[in-house]
Amino acid sequence: MQKSIDQIYHEALKDIEGADTLESVEAHSITYLGRKGLVTQFLRSVATLPADERPLAGKRANEVKQALDAAVLAATKRCELAAEKADEGIDVTLPGRTVKQGTLHPLTRVTLEICDIFTHLGFQIVEGPEIETDYYNFEALNIPKNHPARDMQDTFYISENTVLRTHTSPTQPRVMEKQDPPVRIIAPGKVYRCDSDLTHTPMFHQVEGLLVDEHISFGDLKGILTTFIHKIFDEETSLRFRPSFFPFTEPSAEVDIRCVICRGKGCRVCSQTGWLEVLGAGMVHPAVFENIGYDTQKYTGFAFGMGVERITMLKYGVDDIRKYFENDLRFLRQF
Ligand SMILES: [Zn+2]
Repeated sequence: MQKSIDQIYHEALKDIEGADTLESVEAHSITYLGRKGLVTQFLRSVATLPADERPLAGKRANEVKQALDAAVLAATKRCELAAEKADEGIDVTLPGRTVKQGTLHPLTRVTLEICDIFTHLGFQIVEGPEIETDYYNFEALNIPKNHPARDMQDTFYISENTVLRTHTSPTQPRVMEKQDPPVRIIAPGKVYRCDSDLTHTPMFHQVEGLLVDEHISFGDLKGILTTFIHKIFDEETSLRFRPSFFPFTEPSAEVDIRCVICRGKGCRVCSQTGWLEVLGAGMVHPAVFENIGYDTQKYTGFAFGMGVERITMLKYGVDDIRKYFENDLRFLRQF
């Protein structure tokens, strides 16, 4: 006896939905929907039925054919996806991959540390442009044109009156122009000088500070810098102030610290002297205040500046400055 179309339909659906490879889906498709397939044969046999049964049987057979076509399509997609997953070789039992976290560059880290110490001492952080006018970089700081002090800083000139700033000090007259004392600022940032060897790079980082108020003395300068050195290195680090010259300060001093490597015994880093130069400082030259319009009888102040690379090299015992700019991850990941 010939199976009814609904019996064929249920068996076909069970086979197709149960298939787990593309090959078996294909085989079931041929068995039921192929040229000699069961559904196809049933459709052909409709013509032999009594005339009054034909329309209903034909309609049902076509519905079954459409439903099974859709089932074959779905099963094919399902098996294709499964095959792709198997190709990727995903092993769900493996532990997850850790995402490597970035770290702050050592120079950024030390700059932030320096800024943190000074903000706790009441200083405000200010920033200025790296492309600076000759006026703010030199003239406002008591370095007029043709002054021999300009030779101390090998300047990159962009035009006659525009330079890449040679220090972050230009921020000082910029702030003082807009603000009456008291002024307590530090200016971190990039500076540029035409110089390149083991201990110099054409671009490096500075933090410079300025404090202006009534009754500010050299003693205040020594107190602030001693506190800073004790915080950035340690309480055992002693300082000494040597007379020096800067056009924008008078008197001026170079500040040395007891060598942090050998503790003063003498080593390669301190050239056997036991001391390391880390800062320049001094009382602000009255000519700088006169340029700004501050009352030099009423106000005094001090300024200081340091190279971030120098402090970082001493803190971490790295003696080649170029390592900071080569972006070698093996070096940078150590911090
Ligand atoms: Zn030393």
